[in-house]
Amino acid sequence: QAKAAGRRTYMRYDDSMEATIRRRATLAGALHKALDRGELHVVYQPRQSLATSRITGAEALLRWSSPEHGEIVPAEFIPLAEENGMILEIGEWVLREACLALQRWRQHGLDGLTISVNMSVLQLLRGDFAGVVRRVLDDTGVPPQALELELTESVLMANAAQTAVKLHAFRELGVSLAIDDFGTGYSSLAYLKRLPITTIKIDQTFIADLGHEPEGAAITTTVVAMAHGLGLNVVAEGVENQVQADFLALHHCDEIQGYWVSRPLDAVACMAFIRNRQPPARSAASQPASSP
Ligand code: C2E
Ligand code: MG
Ligand code: MG
Ligand code: MG
Repeated sequence: QAKAAGRRTYMRYDDSMEATIRRRATLAGALHKALDRGELHVVYQPRQSLATSRITGAEALLRWSSPEHGEIVPAEFIPLAEENGMILEIGEWVLREACLALQRWRQHGLDGLTISVNMSVLQLLRGDFAGVVRRVLDDTGVPPQALELELTESVLMANAAQTAVKLHAFRELGVSLAIDDFGTGYSSLAYLKRLPITTIKIDQTFIADLGHEPEGAAITTTVVAMAHGLGLNVVAEGVENQVQADFLALHHCDEIQGYWVSRPLDAVACMAFIRNRQPPARSAASQPASSP
């Protein structure tokens, strides 16, 4: 009896493994054509300053709408693109799209914004990505100061020596560097100090814990203090409610990103959102500022 049950369990496991492998192969094949077929697009999630309430910029997030397979989330297709190297081509395309979007916003009078683009380890370690970034900035007219590249903490930790050298090349270009999903990868303080980073993004799992688990609050306040001690900008990811936003403001987190500010939007909607959210310009400051 037990043996039979065990066998059944094993069979199910085996079947689902096979289904997973088959889906991965199918999606990898479809992804090869996705870029040329126009199935990929980029959405933008605004980021807000807690001190001024101003929108400081937006993060570019990749989307894939496949006619055959429906909406596929980045968590599923980015690893596939990393495995077969497609992320190099796709990543460059995202970077260019994001810079073009920012340049359009700038041309419509929105100043002082930063566009953040996620970067995969393969992009960092393979070839001359700093050269790619310089070319995209030149082509689009975006100043280096307006671009921020995000790298996950685990990536930095896994390739410590190599990444440090590469990151310095980006800083020399004048672009900002953020550590994404911070708190999940056990970085040491001493290690962080050696990297030319400008921003830390606290992982959303800790933000989700705020108001429930004491660990979330402890980690968040510690990371903010540590980041400020190192002269870094700190952003909280995945902020979904006022309790979280208030806690972060109270503890001097610099910026928030999450559904509380806005869901990711297409480039046109994001521009409209930013325009609506910006407080009146200085010239209108004769009236008392009403904070939202
Ligand atoms: P990430 O860079 O940490 O991006 C934040 C993720 O959290 C996004 O998921 C975003 O949609 C989601 N999010 C934002 N606000 C909230 C919130 O309030 N609550 C919750 N629960 N989630 C929120 P998304 O778009 O599915 O992207 C997942 C990950 O895929 C990203 O995590 C990033 O690591 C990766 N990714 C996305 N686009 C790219 C890309 O162009 N290149 C590379 N290499 N990776 C990308
Ligand atoms: Mg990110
Ligand atoms: Mg993140
Ligand atoms: Mg992530």
